[in-house]
Amino acid sequence: MSQPMIDPFGRTVSYLRVSVTDRCDFRCVYCMAEDMTFLPKREVLSLEELDRLCSAFIEKGVRKLRLTGGEPLVRKNIMSLIRSLSRHIDSGKLEELTITTNGSQLARYATELYECGVRRINVSIDTLDADRFKAITRWGDLGKVMDGIRAATAAGLSVKINMVALKGVNEHEILSMVEWCHANGYDLTLIETMPLGEIDEDRTDQYLPLSMVRAKLAEQLTLEDIPYKTGGPARYVRIAETGGRLGFITPMTHNFCESCNRVRVTCTGMLYMCLGQDDSADLRAPLRASESDEQLHAAIDEAIGRKPKGHDFIIDRRTRQPAVTRHMSVTGG
Ligand code: SAM
Ligand code: SF4
Repeated sequence: MSQPMIDPFGRTVSYLRVSVTDRCDFRCVYCMAEDMTFLPKREVLSLEELDRLCSAFIEKGVRKLRLTGGEPLVRKNIMSLIRSLSRHIDSGKLEELTITTNGSQLARYATELYECGVRRINVSIDTLDADRFKAITRWGDLGKVMDGIRAATAAGLSVKINMVALKGVNEHEILSMVEWCHANGYDLTLIETMPLGEIDEDRTDQYLPLSMVRAKLAEQLTLEDIPYKTGGPARYVRIAETGGRLGFITPMTHNFCESCNRVRVTCTGMLYMCLGQDDSADLRAPLRASESDEQLHAAIDEAIGRKPKGHDFIIDRRTRQPAVTRHMSVTGG
């Protein structure tokens, strides 16, 4: 029943990202419209269903599991799911259990996350300026996020900061973000904006190619390519001056698909074989159809057999339509 997941291009799927909720306490301008409508509760998988789903993937060879959202830590009782999933860390089946968070609830949960076997977390911060933070996230409070990061470090969690590079918004802050992160012992990953979902603004105005960012940084810092890998799509350099690591996630300028080992599940149980394609498979129906996991495993196998070679992201200047209609908060990045 639990054969490993190998796609038609010979890539083994060992990394699962699960969006545990589509809801969020922020409204980042590149991610959501301000008046987002969220899913009705009955469509969203229960915590027990999410546990069953994740466990089925672990049975089938997933070694790294990342919970994301929306904001994973605003889901009611989320710690009960994380605590339950930690059994797979204890058994050695799962190498890593981690989350991507906006940090707003971290002060409350950091210690418990560590107790559940979480060792690394990603926290998204696009600016260190409180007013700009408010402008980008619309509803966020930078002070709270900073308290959360301090709590995370105090609890023993390694922190990686994710920063979406936005043209004309935070591009002038990238150097200071590198310095701040590395002075505090955090890795930093820069992300290009991806054309996912309708938002209130024009994406062609936000898009900043990281090739340009990298060239600019190289005028002031020494960037050395390193083979460091976290299982995700980032390419890393070491900054000689700070000794810290800097990652680049460049879906738009660099095709990172050839080594893709990932699939994503939404909070309604839709499996997306590629972040940049609309094709998906419904896992909620087989999950709810029977108490045994047989149908679920069959549906997963069938879907992995359709994993595409790569994405075709393009920010269309003529129609200004997103390449993929769902928002990042659906599949969670
Ligand atoms: N709420 C959590 C957070 O912000 O970290 C987890 C979910 S969020 C969708 C995951 C990551 O995707 C964040 O780092 C966010 O900045 C990034 N993101 C959201 N929309 C994006 C887009 N259109 N292009 C690139 N990155 C995006
Ligand atoms: Fe929420 Fe994360 Fe999207 Fe910002 S990027 S709106 S914090 S889900």
